[in-house]
Amino acid sequence: MLSVTMTAASKTTPEAVARHYDYITPFYEIIGSRSLHLGYWPAGESGGTFAESQQRFTDLMIQQLGAQKGHRVLDIGCGLGEPATRLAQSSGCMVEGITISPRQAAQAERWASLHGTSGQTSFICGNAMALPFQTGSFDAAWALESIFHMPDRAAVLREVARVLHPGGRLLIADIVVSEKATPEDQAFLQQAFVARSFISPEDYPYLIRDTGYEVEQVLDISQNVMATFGAVSAAIREKEEEVRRAYSDEFLAAIQEQWTRITETAMRCMGYIVLTAKRV
Ligand code: SAH
Repeated sequence: MLSVTMTAASKTTPEAVARHYDYITPFYEIIGSRSLHLGYWPAGESGGTFAESQQRFTDLMIQQLGAQKGHRVLDIGCGLGEPATRLAQSSGCMVEGITISPRQAAQAERWASLHGTSGQTSFICGNAMALPFQTGSFDAAWALESIFHMPDRAAVLREVARVLHPGGRLLIADIVVSEKATPEDQAFLQQAFVARSFISPEDYPYLIRDTGYEVEQVLDISQNVMATFGAVSAAIREKEEEVRRAYSDEFLAAIQEQWTRITETAMRCMGYIVLTAKRV
């Protein structure tokens, strides 16, 4: 998610991404849930808290993935383990998460143990560009807001295809940037989201086909996630004191200013898609 340190996009190495999350996670825990993704609102709705909207988002992903009891699912960029834990609880599947941050892997293990899913979930620190798993060993995989951080989208997708068995399901939730974005908008969004690259919604299906999958569905949920920006602003206002105590006056001022700019830019040229595909 969002950065206030404004790393240059060219410096978005996996190590820089790990450092970023270790720094920013307490902020997200104060203003939201243990998930590190945007929120979801059904059409025409905008109320409720940011944390509730994040849970709704995860529940929609669980439904879209359609994993079954006993399936082995890979969580690419698992964050603090909340989505994986929720998926294991509601689908009865086994989930293995990978994150570039060692701290996150430990936090995810603790979260799963607190929620009684340790027998179904496991989390490791590693780079998704080289997955430490056997070929054809997973039934499904999902990547929730993680692929844009990674050094080479096509290489990651091929690597995920390697560990999925033929017919295995892939779900990607990703920020996309429209053609309306100026080079300045692109650069700002890349820095703000600590992203290595964004892709346009039109190009995504081609990339998926080129990397070993058959596209099933591309859902444009841009309109359903945009209320995140207002909900986060409200949460920052409400939790101002806590944020200040955990960080500093300077951090609070910087995040408020950045959130205003990101909201304005996102409304103009950011979108969000959920893509499901089948490994051929
Ligand atoms: N999917 C989680 C976390 C999203 S934040 C959620 O929805 O809550 C992005 C995640 O991608 C973080 O866990 C980060 O560590 C992970 N990530 C980024 N680059 C990575 C890489 N090269 N290899 C493995 N994980 C990576």
